[in-house]
Amino acid sequence: MTPTTKTFWRNFIDGEWVDGATDERILIDNPATGEPIAEVARAMPADVDRAVAAARRSFASRALLDLPPAERGQLMFEVARHLGEMTEEIAKLECLDNGKTLANGRNDVKLTMRYLQYYGGMADKLEGRQIPLGPGVLDYTVHAPFGVSAQIVPWNGPLPVGARSVCCALITGNTVVLKSPEDSPLSLFKFAEACEKAGVPKGALNIICGYGHDAGAALVAHRDIDHIVFTGSVATGKSVLRSAAERVIPCVMELGGKSAGIVHADADLERAVKSAARGIFFHAGQICSAASRLLVHRSIYDEFVSLMVKEAEARSVGAGIEGHDMGPLISARQLDKVEGLCRVGVDEGARLATGGARLPGRKGYFMAPTVFRDVHPEMRIARDEFFGPVVVVIPFDTPEEAITIANGTDYGLAAGVFTRDLSLALWTADRLVAGQVYVNDWWVGGVETPFGGTKRSGYGREKGQEALLGYVQTKNVGIRL
Ligand code: NAD
Repeated sequence: MTPTTKTFWRNFIDGEWVDGATDERILIDNPATGEPIAEVARAMPADVDRAVAAARRSFASRALLDLPPAERGQLMFEVARHLGEMTEEIAKLECLDNGKTLANGRNDVKLTMRYLQYYGGMADKLEGRQIPLGPGVLDYTVHAPFGVSAQIVPWNGPLPVGARSVCCALITGNTVVLKSPEDSPLSLFKFAEACEKAGVPKGALNIICGYGHDAGAALVAHRDIDHIVFTGSVATGKSVLRSAAERVIPCVMELGGKSAGIVHADADLERAVKSAARGIFFHAGQICSAASRLLVHRSIYDEFVSLMVKEAEARSVGAGIEGHDMGPLISARQLDKVEGLCRVGVDEGARLATGGARLPGRKGYFMAPTVFRDVHPEMRIARDEFFGPVVVVIPFDTPEEAITIANGTDYGLAAGVFTRDLSLALWTADRLVAGQVYVNDWWVGGVETPFGGTKRSGYGREKGQEALLGYVQTKNVGIRL
């Protein structure tokens, strides 16, 4: 099935849809069938140069910067409006390009519109300070843009993850070169179309699709970028940071996670299980903040595991566009990785309560929703990120032990706690080392709430008012009167 009438996509540079420097193309497949659905002009380092040059010219022209902030905000509202008109098309595209369910695809568009509206509304509210220095001096601060912001996006939620960084950059007067993920680039091309229709100045936003090892690496090492926003794995993040260090480029790093949900003995069990199941099986677990480790009090452990197994086995797995609950993983490579790590878990002595392998007889990259029990916190499956629909359930005896286990990995993205005891909830939230803590439901929050990591999960924040501070630098102006 063709996702849209357009099956060949060019890169969006300097307000034009352009061929690549070479004739090479990236074949985009449907993860539910393994069949090709589109081709993309493969961006090479020469295309990166062209995109960065366009963003630099646009920044130097001050086309965005000289717009009154309120008008920059209006532009974002316009982008949101055009995007909204394409909701069904983009949602279907995300089913076919990314393996999402239709509901998830629609929600991505809605979420992206919210980002555009939220940050559009903040464009004229980012105020500096006037600092009193006594008679004869006027001193004030302004939030100045960095210049050209290089942005790298992973495959799992390209539209909202990409767009939230783009709109923060544009409303603060930066210009952008974004490299979309090579596995699922199409929704961000639709975003570029919405920006084009809305009248975002030429060159202010450039979207290219290439592989990480050449186009991505060339972008973050480019001599003419001023700022990096990287969302992806810790391993790639480290290599991006090495490039950034060479030129002392400020970075926002949104990396992986192995987020722990603590279920205390007094928790509302049914609610905790439902929420945790959504937290790990939504988008087949390909969410950085998935509830991938569950720490459950020993007194309710067996009951919790059997309810989790029921939840896993109740999910219909298949092509999202056909209305299934859970879609495929993004690629054969990711399926091999997730399945391989499950085998490690079995070898380590953990017990498979359900799942543990790909679904047989399917052409697509479908992994069975998986629950591991009798997991020890030192096992690799309790420490490494699957980025798939696999949850490990670990027993604990005391709240202190739960905190030690929860904080005992290199990651620190999200964490959760389920209990009816408010004091215990606050005690736990206080001790969890994570960028965000959810109480009695996974993913409590929204566009308005800051999101980001601690430890190897990265630094800087996206979402909420805090995010904007990652896109500006304070400039102080002192005037002798
Ligand atoms: P990845 O690190 O392999 O790739 C991410 C992006 O980096 C892709 O666009 C890729 O092309 C690019 N890339 C690869 N090598 C590069 C290089 N040397 N230089 C520059 N760019 C390069 O990650 P992935 O496997 O696509 O995504 C999954 C990871 O992303 C998971 O670890 C997940 O937790 C993380 N993630 C984090 C967040 C967050 O907000 N914290 C959100 C989504 C995903």
